[in-house]
Amino acid sequence: MGLKNYTEEVAVEVLNEIKGMHPNCCFCEKCTQDIIAIALTRLKGKYAVTREGEIFARVEQSDRQVRADALLAVMEGIEKVSKRPKHDPDKIKLD
Ligand SMILES: [Zn+2]
Repeated sequence: MGLKNYTEEVAVEVLNEIKGMHPNCCFCEKCTQDIIAIALTRLKGKYAVTREGEIFARVEQSDRQVRADALLAVMEGIEKVSKRPKHDPDKIKLD
């Protein structure tokens, strides 16, 4: 499991946990992808390290910290996407 997969996994988990608290944000496939992409861009700078072994060690040790950072990053993604969703409105079902 690489760093990108790990942070992505955490970001998706966090997003699923807090989705319910953001009824005004769209969580269609496109918007969910955008939120995760914004979150990962933020997290990438924090957790970019060069050697695979170091990544593992660091991530294992600071799971709690990664989650705290992921929460902030995902919340920023939700905020941006809810203000300006990029999905195609014609493709969204409004029932
Ligand atoms: Zn959407």
